[in-house]
Amino acid sequence: MAPPKQELVFAPLGGVGEIGMNLSIYGLGNERRRQWLMVDLGVSFAAEEHLPGVDLILPDIRYLVDERRNIAGLVLTHAHEDHFGAIIELWPQLKVPIFATPFTAALLEAKRASEPGAPQIPVTIVPLGSRFDVGPFNIELVTMAHSIPESNALIIRTPTGTVLHTGDWKIDPTPILGDVTDEKKLRALGQEGCLALVGDSTNAVREGRSPSEADVRKTITELVKTARGRVAVTTFASNVGRLRTVAEAARAAEREVVIVGRAMDRITQIARETGYLDGVPDFRPVDAYGYLPPNKVVALCTGSQGEPRAALSRIAADEHPDVTLSRGDRVIFSARTIPGNEKEVGRVMNGLIEQGIEVITDRTHLVHVSGHPRRAELEELISWVKPKVLIPVHGEALHLSEHAALARKCGVPEVLQCRNGDLVRLSPDVRIIDEVPAGRIYKDGTLLVSAEARTVADRKRLSFAGHVTIALALTEQGVLAADPELDLMGIPERDRDGGLIEEAVYDIVLDTVEQLPRARKRDPDAVAEAVRRAVRACVAQRWGKKPMCHVHVLTV
Ligand SMILES: [Zn+2]
Ligand SMILES: [Zn+2]
Repeated sequence: MAPPKQELVFAPLGGVGEIGMNLSIYGLGNERRRQWLMVDLGVSFAAEEHLPGVDLILPDIRYLVDERRNIAGLVLTHAHEDHFGAIIELWPQLKVPIFATPFTAALLEAKRASEPGAPQIPVTIVPLGSRFDVGPFNIELVTMAHSIPESNALIIRTPTGTVLHTGDWKIDPTPILGDVTDEKKLRALGQEGCLALVGDSTNAVREGRSPSEADVRKTITELVKTARGRVAVTTFASNVGRLRTVAEAARAAEREVVIVGRAMDRITQIARETGYLDGVPDFRPVDAYGYLPPNKVVALCTGSQGEPRAALSRIAADEHPDVTLSRGDRVIFSARTIPGNEKEVGRVMNGLIEQGIEVITDRTHLVHVSGHPRRAELEELISWVKPKVLIPVHGEALHLSEHAALARKCGVPEVLQCRNGDLVRLSPDVRIIDEVPAGRIYKDGTLLVSAEARTVADRKRLSFAGHVTIALALTEQGVLAADPELDLMGIPERDRDGGLIEEAVYDIVLDTVEQLPRARKRDPDAVAEAVRRAVRACVAQRWGKKPMCHVHVLTV
């Protein structure tokens, strides 16, 4: 019998149907045995109101843990959290070789060093634009412009076909930092033949092209120059090109840059070490702020997402030990507000405005641009690479379907939309052939818990409708041996008519136990369930909400 044909397969285990938590795998072999290449291992951030107490959302890697002996390695496209944020948590379960370019590797190492107890994680550093083997996969890095240094697309060459995995990218002819998107290499790939393009869909709903970082530089330079008092700029610390822009704007206005916030400190140090701030005068430490005249300083702050413990939130609340702002000063939000953070960001902005501080955002000034391709850029990439198949990733359903429609319009012969966990065969033919386990896990305190576990759902119910605990002591005949003990948490004290809810609960407990048929009274579980139902109904009638309720029955 002939051995089964070699297949090339692809499966997203995160990042499809959502923005965040990117994790893709490529497999080479057949259904009996495949060798795997992992691309990226990112996180999503949890919105407090939806997932109380959860810090991070990580991809479920059950499938990879089972397959770990067949994983040749993990290649990182860039150092954004949605692409590399889960490594410290999850790598110990896999222990696969990691490949990254110098800046990404340095950021990973710095992050690891800042987390007590984090494991040693060996990383093979590969140069930008290089070509190397990971098991049976030959990888070539393609430099792409993005909002962090060293974003790489991957050309993945295999005996059965070549894939372009774009990572995050845009076309920016004047990116401030690093090289422009490597059009030549992408066109050459088009000549050579590209089977599949697996690509960033984030901005597929937006017409035209992303403005350039150089346009942002123009605006920020002007805003720093025309400011009369102090200037504070907040942006993502990892956007080193933007940090450079702020530094150059400060120099042009004869101001000094003070770094405020730990993440900003950490990244500027790495950016210096890796050469991305060459030629930029040294920044001043935060304690210099107090000595500099208002028209001689620019504070570069963390906290663009309204994070309560970050520098800008503390400054806005007038709680920062070193940095204050006052009437007439100017704050520039040089970042997009990530959906879900609007309230927190609004709180910081309002705090500043109430103090008479001028707040400038991208609603009125070009102080921020996205690092992702809009439609004209997506079209251009397709025209360079000429893929036979296009698979949209890195987006929510709307972004994916717009990207797919655009690809069809551009004449890509086959466009395939898939979901996290779909196993897609790319060659010899293209279709979804199977499903592999995929999902999410939560970082809850110091533990990783399944998203299906009840804990977080329980916590949400608790926060919404409170809790009642009841302890009953029953004789073997089912007679109450003592008064019931009640404990109500998070429930209003009185109902609309002024009656005490606790009293009503107490009465209903007594009535319920009394009215149970004798046989059921002798069954502690039956008593507990009857009381639980009665209590929830009783509170619901008076309050309009059903609390959680636990009944403990002791037989004495
Ligand atoms: Zn990114
Ligand atoms: Zn991303």
